[in-house]
Amino acid sequence: MKNVIITGGTSGIGLGIARLFAAQGYNLLLNGLEKNGPQLADELAQEHQVKTAYSAANLQHPAQIREMVRQAEQELGQVDVLINNAGIQYVAPVEEFPEDRWDAILAINMSATFHASKAVWPGMKERGFGRIINIASAHALRASEYKVAYVAAKHGVAGITKVLALEGAPHGITCNAICPGYVRTPLVDAQIADQARAHQMSEADVIEKVMLKKQPIKQFVDVQALGNLALYLASETAGQLTGAMLPVDGGWTAQ
Ligand code: NAD
Repeated sequence: MKNVIITGGTSGIGLGIARLFAAQGYNLLLNGLEKNGPQLADELAQEHQVKTAYSAANLQHPAQIREMVRQAEQELGQVDVLINNAGIQYVAPVEEFPEDRWDAILAINMSATFHASKAVWPGMKERGFGRIINIASAHALRASEYKVAYVAAKHGVAGITKVLALEGAPHGITCNAICPGYVRTPLVDAQIADQARAHQMSEADVIEKVMLKKQPIKQFVDVQALGNLALYLASETAGQLTGAMLPVDGGWTAQ
């Protein structure tokens, strides 16, 4: 069975994807900063009879990313699928946007995608098979006010996705990005409060008038839908689908 690394796999979308991959028999390395990471990895192993590993690598540091990939290669054998999912958000008008949040968002949401992909690349190339799946965002395709770092980083991920698709094409390596609209996860819960401050609105109004305003299907996107798409992209069948930015956004980017 194949092996997958999921960054930010111990919370929200990443954890939802991890559960689906484990249920399909994938061995996994979960990365993320949550304290219960090792426990989550053990639970998935027991529940689905797969091999799991946990890495607390802080993706702001390229050396830790390389170490995470080495760990996956040692503990699982090889890395067939890399899901670059970890991400953070910060919401503020540009003139108040803290410089350290800019640096952190660019490092975690964008540069880590490059460093992790670079580290898994030689193994994928040697075996003639690889799947890199970037969890980007509707904000890789559209902008919103007060999110200058996030929108820049996610547009950067779009660039990385397309270049890796071109370079991977001769080697059986595909690279695609899933672009979710709003999904109700801890990241979005935190944003609701931030947005309420930035827009000077109540939290209920932020959900209705800011977030779901952009999603014609007036629901938060379901983690299962993202996980099932990721499973398809990871499959052998999806070998001719590469370099794509795939929105799962309730119609947001159709506008
Ligand atoms: P989340 O906050 O639930 O999970 C984020 C994960 O990233 C956590 O496991 C966290 O520990 C990890 N992480 C953060 N900083 C890290 C670091 N320095 N090193 C290692 N791990 C780190 O968020 P989520 O909503 O599940 O988001 C997952 C991805 O989906 C992000 O890239 C996010 O931008 C993207 N996304 C989310 C939404 C949404 O509405 N929730 C929409 C579009 C895109």
